[in-house]
Amino acid sequence: MRGAVMYAPGDVRVEERQDPRIVEPTDAVIRLSATCVCGSDLWPWRGIDPLQEPSPMGHEYVGIVEEVGDQVRNVRPGQFVVGSFFASDNTCEICRAGYQSSCVHRVLMGPLGAQAERLRVPLADGTLVATPEVPPDDLIPSFLAASDVLGTGWFGAVAAEAGPGKTVAVVGDGAVGLLAVLAAKQLGAEQIIAMSRHEARQRLAVEYGATDIVAERGAEGVERIKELTGGLGAHSVVEAVGTQESMMQAIHATRPGGHVGYVGVAHGVELPGEELFYSHVHLHGGPAPVRRFLPELVDLIWNRRIDPGKVFDLALPLDQAADGYRAMDERRATKVLLRV
Ligand SMILES: [Zn+2]
Repeated sequence: MRGAVMYAPGDVRVEERQDPRIVEPTDAVIRLSATCVCGSDLWPWRGIDPLQEPSPMGHEYVGIVEEVGDQVRNVRPGQFVVGSFFASDNTCEICRAGYQSSCVHRVLMGPLGAQAERLRVPLADGTLVATPEVPPDDLIPSFLAASDVLGTGWFGAVAAEAGPGKTVAVVGDGAVGLLAVLAAKQLGAEQIIAMSRHEARQRLAVEYGATDIVAERGAEGVERIKELTGGLGAHSVVEAVGTQESMMQAIHATRPGGHVGYVGVAHGVELPGEELFYSHVHLHGGPAPVRRFLPELVDLIWNRRIDPGKVFDLALPLDQAADGYRAMDERRATKVLLRV
């Protein structure tokens, strides 16, 4: 089969890879309908995350089940399924508490390489969620978004305790930030402030439910949020970038007693203890337990209640995966879908 492999920063090649097969009796093998490039794939592309050796890439996937192991009960060949970036058993104590991305048996999907024609999914019963029927093609981008960026944005909004009567600010206008806006709207937030200085992304944020746009960053951005919230700061702030600047911007934009939901993969973030002590904010986040939200998200998409697939503003054939990385790295595209 064809699949994307990263050889070095800036060097992604789509080449012949070995076809996946059932290894454990709890595995499934799926034929991808579509996959995509993640903001987190840009860290090794830019040489910020070290790369040990040529690595299969991709951890976002939807597709048709081709084969299942002997112990798989919940999914069967022919079904269209959505999974996420950690496989989980969905039965251990951590999973049952809703933290499937920290499952005691979790398997990171990235190294298995979802930017490919086929994929082995471990712990299929606890990982995959099937749609009621095979969906029409126009819904595939939205289901693919649920695999990571929607689930992550949703967790960010939940971790920030977005809800009725709340003011929610979102730091970061990538796909996760935009979908955190959508999630905040779905969760009933009253005021939603998107921080973005990119016109097309501002427009999508408004479409997804943003009531205010703040283009300023850093201390100025924090001041603008305070102005918009009676001088207090937001009840809920979603941090969807992962840098020191964005994290501090999120903490400073949150009112005392408020909540920060941080879902940007942290790179070099160090929190000053004293400042944190006096800020009086709750911090919660981490790798999103997307599986917790998947049944609800699949239902919302199936019934066309939300349209998260709009974050894909470029679609390329799998063979042009490297162009997709380049387009996202240069911010010419928010999120690149790869057709399989
Ligand atoms: Zn578990």
